[in-house]
Amino acid sequence: MSTGCVIGVDLGGSKLLAGAVDPALNVHHRAIRPARGTGQSAVLDAVVGAVAEVRDAIEGASGRVEAVGFGIPCLIDQRHGVAVMAVNLPLVGVPFGDLMTERLGLPVFVDNDANTAMLAEWRYGAALGARDAAMLTLGTGIGGGLVVGGALQRGSQGAGAELGHMVVQAGGPRCQGNCPNRGCLEAMCSGTALAREALRMARERPDSGLGRAFAGGGEINGALVTELAHDGDAAAIDAIALIGRWLGVGISNLVNMLNPDVVIVGGGVIAAGELLLEPARAEVAERALSPSKEHVRILPARFGAESGMLGAAALALDGIGATGQRDG
Ligand SMILES: [Zn+2]
Repeated sequence: MSTGCVIGVDLGGSKLLAGAVDPALNVHHRAIRPARGTGQSAVLDAVVGAVAEVRDAIEGASGRVEAVGFGIPCLIDQRHGVAVMAVNLPLVGVPFGDLMTERLGLPVFVDNDANTAMLAEWRYGAALGARDAAMLTLGTGIGGGLVVGGALQRGSQGAGAELGHMVVQAGGPRCQGNCPNRGCLEAMCSGTALAREALRMARERPDSGLGRAFAGGGEINGALVTELAHDGDAAAIDAIALIGRWLGVGISNLVNMLNPDVVIVGGGVIAAGELLLEPARAEVAERALSPSKEHVRILPARFGAESGMLGAAALALDGIGATGQRDG
């Protein structure tokens, strides 16, 4: 690795992923840490620990780390590098960029995690070549990324493209964390919403695989629901289809507003694949306007749950002027 590499960090609402990435976007080492249910200093320590682990692995193999890029689930004041608002993590008011520069001793670049995911998919992945594109990352919450007229959009203060907080059911369930709203897309089809709906179905249908897992004391989370659905359990499939339809309601709004070439769905929940996307596409076909709905492609993220980490790395590569081309 004579050219050196960067470290991309995707700080999600429940876990963080750090990876050493070279200018061709190959990943050389990964570190994963939990990030949920802890205070601010514990989250920041987990970030520093994960970066240190990856850096040690690279430098131990005589490689060189030149910068670190972060995607964090916060609204970020880009001029000052301060996290001004975070729905699902205790990072409000934290001068994240300065803090990490000081603790890591490397150049640091910071953006919203869904923006970095959008960047990776637009530059190298499923939205390659699109002039207008949107991305939804379905995890603990729902992040949004937007490319309009060939440029990534962050809004006038860097707080824009929060597509997960568009309302799809006024008066619906309370949204999460620090969001004061009801019936946001995030409240209807995030990984958290999937677990909630699956738990309800497990109780209603005790003879299903989902019901038996619940009776056996297993935690009903997105990963379990997805696994059961891929094994053919009807209740798990129905839970995913239900949130897939809500996803389609949200995408219909995006299609009508933006007339995008492509809408990318990423985050942990996209492990459900077509079980999630087919109901979403059916909803868009029923609700959205022509010709936009015939034009748009609704696709899974090429990089799956790694889009945010790879995009954070791409941000850092851009920052040090080492942007490369991905093979293939
Ligand atoms: Zn909300």
